Amino acid sequence: MPTKPLDRLMFAQGSLCFFCRQPLPKAEASVEHLLASANGGSNNDENCVACCKSVNALLGSMSLKEKFQVVLNQKGQFKCPNGTGSIKAVAQPKLTPKAPAAAKSKEDQLALVVANLKQRGNSKPRTLKTLTSTIASLFPKGLSEAELIVLIQQLQSRGKVVISEKEITYAL
Ligand SMILES: [Zn+2]
Repeated sequence: MPTKPLDRLMFAQGSLCFFCRQPLPKAEASVEHLLASANGGSNNDENCVACCKSVNALLGSMSLKEKFQVVLNQKGQFKCPNGTGSIKAVAQPKLTPKAPAAAKSKEDQLALVVANLKQRGNSKPRTLKTLTSTIASLFPKGLSEAELIVLIQQLQSRGKVVISEKEITYAL
């Protein structure tokens, strides 16, 4: 059985932060006294949890009531401030190759469109109308008018496509 309080608590919590439930690297971990030592809280495991340093610093020597308030305010989605929890939460999910219809993010959609236009070599759409229908056909599940417009705007703002009154030129 680990003997250091932090090691013991980490073990008991499955190496997750007590508050945000994210994997807690030991370098980020600290022991939080639920009832602060300053308020007479003991060093026993019953009064201590392992958690992200950031949330420990935030809770400091708040009263139990104030700590409850902090926790309850998170409405069950507790993220430690600047802790591993929040970093984990913004981390990109692993991208796996998917069928075009499954392209989810704007970025995926854009990449798909650019890749398709590249494949077309010299037979790229020459008018806005054909470009629009070409892009729409890449998304069999349907793309709203607004989404189509955003995609075309993105192509333009990135300089991939230059649309003038008479023709469209590409720089893919
Ligand atoms: Zn945490």
